[in-house]
Amino acid sequence: MDFNTSLSQLPSASAKRIALRIHAPAERALRQGHPWVFDGSITEQSHVGAPGDLAVIFDDKRRFLAIGLYDPTSTIRVRVLQSRDSVTINTDWFQNKLSTAVRLRAPLQQSDTDGYRLVHGENDGLPGLVIDRYADTLVLKLYTPAWIPHLKDFCDALAQVTPATHLILRLNRSLQKQTDLLHGLVDGIPLTLQTPPSLILFKENGLIFESDPIHGQKTGFFLDQRDNRSRVEKLSKGKSVLNVFSYTGGFSVYAAHGGAKEVVSVDVSAPALEAAVRNMAHNKLTVPHETIAEDAFEVLARMASQKRLFDVVIIDPPMFAQSEKQIESALSAYRKLTRLGLSVLRKGGTLVQASCSSRVDNDSFFESVHGSAKEAGRTLKEIERTGHALDHPIGFKEGAYLKCLFAIAL
Ligand code: SAH
Repeated sequence: MDFNTSLSQLPSASAKRIALRIHAPAERALRQGHPWVFDGSITEQSHVGAPGDLAVIFDDKRRFLAIGLYDPTSTIRVRVLQSRDSVTINTDWFQNKLSTAVRLRAPLQQSDTDGYRLVHGENDGLPGLVIDRYADTLVLKLYTPAWIPHLKDFCDALAQVTPATHLILRLNRSLQKQTDLLHGLVDGIPLTLQTPPSLILFKENGLIFESDPIHGQKTGFFLDQRDNRSRVEKLSKGKSVLNVFSYTGGFSVYAAHGGAKEVVSVDVSAPALEAAVRNMAHNKLTVPHETIAEDAFEVLARMASQKRLFDVVIIDPPMFAQSEKQIESALSAYRKLTRLGLSVLRKGGTLVQASCSSRVDNDSFFESVHGSAKEAGRTLKEIERTGHALDHPIGFKEGAYLKCLFAIAL
């Protein structure tokens, strides 16, 4: 991989490690493999640290517990890289982690898929960092400034283990604002020499999709729904399918490919729907495809009042609960969506409803969908409860965020 100068001008990590002690509950969590140490659990600290300093956590007998990336700007003060055995964090260590991540995704090669999550942050032992591959482009997204002093070593490891023509850097919203820590890096900047294309074509289960890795949501595509999209493909033959919160039409393309007689995609984002139309064309799918760029709640209410009914209704909304406080309002939004979705679903039709809010646990979500169906006078006969695909492994509680219900609505 040929890197440009953005990486070489970054400062290197401090050689001086921070020594920390933490209170007993945090120590227990760490021993059980939790990857975060919160600011409030630190009881002793050797010296003031900068983002990206390596922090070593010791127990009360001065024995090594874990080493991680220090971030004084976040309440997640340390993101654990390794616990139990002491290690040197360097290019070799990164290579090792990346090789493990690559091995885990090997089965995807058999499914004609070259768009997938290569590194899923904490769940792949690389906390606060995500890498998505779209064919020959890698999109690396950072969630903490602590990675910046390690980025050059990390990218060297990446080039060794799984090279690509283009590497694009994305920064999450809070990191974009920390300009004093970014050393010239900005959201969407290429780290490789060649100018990357603005749209990338990649394959998912043999179907062609485009991704806009610089302006798109997440890194350009919602890769976590791959398996659920396949399930939709299998149940779409001869059906009318409504895809609510469609984004660029992932589920719509699979439904059309599976033989749907009609597909309707609803999303508030007009550019996303334009991409959905192009995604249909990339796959030469000519089934009638209507796109509606409006608020999903309003569209569903209107369709219900017009008695417009579908055989399959897919509801995959954005994250509703960012914090503990929002869990109740998220559950009430899920209930409302179930009610609205069922009001446009034919008797005996299939409801596919997903939640990507990690704060909302599985039971609460599934119970709220069932409860809302009952209130609407419908019974849901479950086909399946599913989660994310294998490239989104679950390494800790918060890593299990996606849940999806497939059910026949009687
Ligand atoms: N199902 C999609 C991913 C959905 S992400 C896929 O498989 O790729 C959530 C989507 O909801 C985003 O595209 C966002 O633009 C859209 N969205 C957010 N709020 C909305 C609203 N009130 N009405 C309609 N769409 C909305």
